[in-house]
Amino acid sequence: MKNMSEVSFIQILIDCSNMVKLRGHHLICLHFFRGEGYNEEFVSNLKRVLEEAEKEIVVISGADDVCVVCPYLVDGICRYSEDSDEHIAELDRLALKLLNLQHGSRLKWDDLKEKIGKILPEWKKYACSECDWRKVCEKAEGWQ
Ligand code: SF4
Repeated sequence: MKNMSEVSFIQILIDCSNMVKLRGHHLICLHFFRGEGYNEEFVSNLKRVLEEAEKEIVVISGADDVCVVCPYLVDGICRYSEDSDEHIAELDRLALKLLNLQHGSRLKWDDLKEKIGKILPEWKKYACSECDWRKVCEKAEGWQ
């Protein structure tokens, strides 16, 4: 039997089936996408997600529309490294706290863009220092 939070989460997914679904840390990290990724399929999916995100985004927990084609996603778990699933879940929590959002929040990419500059110093301090993508992000517009 499903508890109430499972039921409401499933309802969010049904209601938002046409929206782009993003987890917390992707709401921030995708602003610095420079056309690079794990493989061709991952990159072309990411481009599609970013186009769709212009319409409307719904915030979810766990594997999202970006993760779905990631070669490191196995049975819904991130296997990039031994503790990566736990680590990105922490990043998701931090991102939602900084952005003042929660699972089920709906927003537009432009609204998100306005918030990023304000929270970026804090995000960089806690999330970016050991990230493998940092050199790519540093080259992106809006990073400074
Ligand atoms: S350096 Fe890593 S954690 Fe920081 S914004 Fe880029 S991808 Fe995200």
